[in-house]
Amino acid sequence: MELRKDPITRSWVITGDDVSDTTPRSESFCRFCPDSPQPAQLITSVSGIPGVPWATRSVVHPSALYHIEGDPARRGDGIYDRMRGVGAHEVLVENPRHERHLWNATDAEIEQFLLLAAQRIQDLKRDGRFKYVSVFKDYGTSAGQEFAHPTSQLMATTFVPRRVLYELRASREYFEQKERCVFCDILSQEIKQNQRLIEVHGDFVALGPYAPRVPYESWILPRSHEAAFERMALARPGMMRDLGALLRRTLQRIRTVTEDFHLVVHTSPNSLHGSESLGYWKTLDEDYHWHIEILPVIAGKSKSYTFKEVYYSPITSETAVKRLREVRIE
Ligand SMILES: [Zn+2]
Ligand SMILES: [Zn+2]
Ligand SMILES: [Zn+2]
Repeated sequence: MELRKDPITRSWVITGDDVSDTTPRSESFCRFCPDSPQPAQLITSVSGIPGVPWATRSVVHPSALYHIEGDPARRGDGIYDRMRGVGAHEVLVENPRHERHLWNATDAEIEQFLLLAAQRIQDLKRDGRFKYVSVFKDYGTSAGQEFAHPTSQLMATTFVPRRVLYELRASREYFEQKERCVFCDILSQEIKQNQRLIEVHGDFVALGPYAPRVPYESWILPRSHEAAFERMALARPGMMRDLGALLRRTLQRIRTVTEDFHLVVHTSPNSLHGSESLGYWKTLDEDYHWHIEILPVIAGKSKSYTFKEVYYSPITSETAVKRLREVRIE
């Protein structure tokens, strides 16, 4: 797998000829259950829930798209840009119990999972090669769910994913004009208008965005301003109980409409190391505001929409074109 940059949109895509695409994984056991005969490679394990061997853990993705070793080796290819698929790809096992999902786990269990996600983001941000760490979840067949066990995924990348980049640029521009955080302004207007608020719980707000991309799109934001999810979670871990509760309740609401959804945490990019391309984000801590986005997938209603923060093509254009050329035209 390698990364290629689209010179028009400036988006990075991950592409390569996936040799496993003809043999879909069909295992008779679960890799993520505590008694798995073939467990995935452990990264870190969190305890603290009585009665279970561990509360939540992070493992290497069994078919990782990014690999931790090496230099990204960014280089030109004529007018194009490419680099190696250096990064981290982890599975965050939300719960040791195979049937305990974010909507039917206890608030204490979800709290532990959120703290694990924060720890992993913080840990990977210490690596100056990584510009961004994404945490996301795809649930349901039409959302591209990979594993039956309750899991989310994490990807540390040598670039900032496109959607986050758009948000960062827009937030910075808003701040330049108004010296205010656009998300804080959205929150205060939504709370005042009370037309799109789903629920307020502790310091957190669940709301439907003004211009949703899919029906029932929902965001969860902290009312207090903070650019980085992991910094808030680790500095004020007690808040994660409230966030866990609001996340559980919001997913329960969405599940009355559809089971399938995408969930993504949007946090600030890696600014710990003085990356030259991020150096101009001097107001990042003031202008960006972390949040969770939930994009439900409703069959037949969202065909035109595809959730792609990082495009992934399991076939290169070389191979695709080769196949297309071989097609016999009548
Ligand atoms: Zn399992
Ligand atoms: Zn804010
Ligand atoms: Zn966002």
